Amino acid sequence: MIRFFIKYMGSITVLIKKTLLIVLFLSFFISTLSAKKDNYLKSTHLTGNTLKLTFKYKLDDVKFFTLKNKGIIKYVYDIKNAVLPKSKSIKEYKHAGVNAFRMGQFSKKYLRVVIESRHKNYKTYAIHGKVLLLKLPKVKKAQHFIPNGKAKRINRYSPTVIIDAGHGGYDIGASYGKIIEKKITLSLALKLQKQLTHRGYKIHMTRNSDQHRHLYERTDYANTKKGTVFISLHTNAAPKRKHKKYLYKGIEVFYMKGMSRKKRYSNRKIYISEWKKKKSYLLAKEVKNKMLASVRKKHIVLDKGVKRNNFWVLRGTKMPAILIENGYITDKYEGKRLITNSYQNLLIKGIVEGVDVYFNRK
Ligand SMILES: [Zn+2]
Repeated sequence: MIRFFIKYMGSITVLIKKTLLIVLFLSFFISTLSAKKDNYLKSTHLTGNTLKLTFKYKLDDVKFFTLKNKGIIKYVYDIKNAVLPKSKSIKEYKHAGVNAFRMGQFSKKYLRVVIESRHKNYKTYAIHGKVLLLKLPKVKKAQHFIPNGKAKRINRYSPTVIIDAGHGGYDIGASYGKIIEKKITLSLALKLQKQLTHRGYKIHMTRNSDQHRHLYERTDYANTKKGTVFISLHTNAAPKRKHKKYLYKGIEVFYMKGMSRKKRYSNRKIYISEWKKKKSYLLAKEVKNKMLASVRKKHIVLDKGVKRNNFWVLRGTKMPAILIENGYITDKYEGKRLITNSYQNLLIKGIVEGVDVYFNRK
């Protein structure tokens, strides 16, 4: 009886081992199969003339064709075995040569991207492993675009925004305890760069790390990069001797003063035309209003208004230019808020909306 039992148990163990092996093999096989099926779109990015789509796994195949209707060409890309998560969208992208960006799950097997344009596109797409690059039609003419004007064809042209993070390197700007201006301005600048790039603007940064830049280097750079607008970011600090009636808190935005011909750098030109003054004022006004609307959803913030000043960066730039004082680091509440991501994000949201209004991109 015992002998029989041992023999029986022995054969059961072998059987279990075999089944386990088969199950393991099968589950591995199934998981690799289903993993291939769920090739999720991980990220989208628009830079210059390329829309970049990054997937979880290597791409199988893309079917490409065009449809024409009343002067509009639809460039259709059916991406095989790709899955679109609900959170991903490209419809908010703006590009000079594109009328609309669309994306959807066309069928279980295909993710479809449609790019509508009036322009002919010669280079179309390229697959690099997990990355799909879609080339967008190039548009040469920028003069159709009129900031804040009656221009209807706003998608024809991507404005170039020069972002200037105040101070840097040994010039730390204002400081109050551990709160240091150059750090806040850089953090804000990088956030603004990300948001504006995402919305299709071309961006150049006068600095993107803790570097020192002379004021004339910043304006020279903006002029050679042919910026459409210039945005300088700063934070304020109360002076040691305070005026009784003055409130050292709140947001204020500056634009150029035209009257004085006195220059900070004698060998450099200043740009103080009426046109620039008008445009700078408009940009300052829209940005300040949207910033306040954004931060006031969660905080009480003083409106210090739009003001004029002779700051070099506002006069040495050929393009309309503003300087934003994002708040007072010396203020009990504002100082602490200014170093948080959540408050910086509210400020940036406002600036982006203001820039959008200025460029009629709403
Ligand atoms: Zn400053």
